Amino acid sequence: SRRDDNHLNQLASVGQIAAGIAHEIKNPLTAVKGFLQLLDEQYDKNYIEIAQKELENALDVLHNLLQVSKPDFENEAIVPIDITIELEALIQLFQDQFYRVKVHTDFRNPGQLIVGKKNLLKKALFNLIKNAIEAIPEEGIIHISQVAFHNFVKITIEDSGNGIPEDKLHMLGTPFFTTKVNGTGMGLTFVYSTMHQHNATINVESSETVGTKFTIIFPKKQDALAKKELALLDLNPTQS
Ligand code: ADP
Ligand code: MG
Repeated sequence: SRRDDNHLNQLASVGQIAAGIAHEIKNPLTAVKGFLQLLDEQYDKNYIEIAQKELENALDVLHNLLQVSKPDFENEAIVPIDITIELEALIQLFQDQFYRVKVHTDFRNPGQLIVGKKNLLKKALFNLIKNAIEAIPEEGIIHISQVAFHNFVKITIEDSGNGIPEDKLHMLGTPFFTTKVNGTGMGLTFVYSTMHQHNATINVESSETVGTKFTIIFPKKQDALAKKELALLDLNPTQS
């Protein structure tokens, strides 16, 4: 199974997002309401604790959502970024997994610059590497590449993990879509919105036998600045 998609198509529709939020918040709040009713009938410290825990869950959901729609890095400066340097550093954050997951890098054109919000991009790339590692149940390989061509810098993150079933591929990027027991389903939503802000395209190909490959194409620094087409430039008050 294989699918190439424009990242714009993968930004979930407002309806899907609303349905996701409604569902994720309705459950904990319904529980809170129920336990408050019980408390009204009979005092029990456990009811208070459960209600507090459920309220925390609801707040977590809102917190995750706000991070995507209005990231902390809103006022971050736009700077030149050598993505290979950032990737090298990010990979090291996963070294406790190297005993089972080998990470190979193939950076063809180090030194090529893009522009953007460094922390935002680092967080997005971190999410992609983390997902790749989490997709590998036992032992496997992650291959990370970079190459520059024409006005673009392309990176790929490819894992030998368990892949994404074809009928689930269209769900990627939808808030709260997760197949993990403790997943948030917010990682890829953040990744897609960040790439969109950087005028990068992101595509995914996946097969349950081979694994998953994300391909991201950024405009090179000169091109992004010359065309002033980087979506971020319009959002940054100091640049407008
Ligand atoms: P989370 O990691 O919390 O589940 P994400 O938004 O990061 O949320 O990912 C959503 C879902 O997409 C995952 O639960 C998983 O099913 C699927 N997914 C993402 N990346 C990969 C990958 N590299 N390999 C296989 N499945 C993936
Ligand atoms: Mg994730």
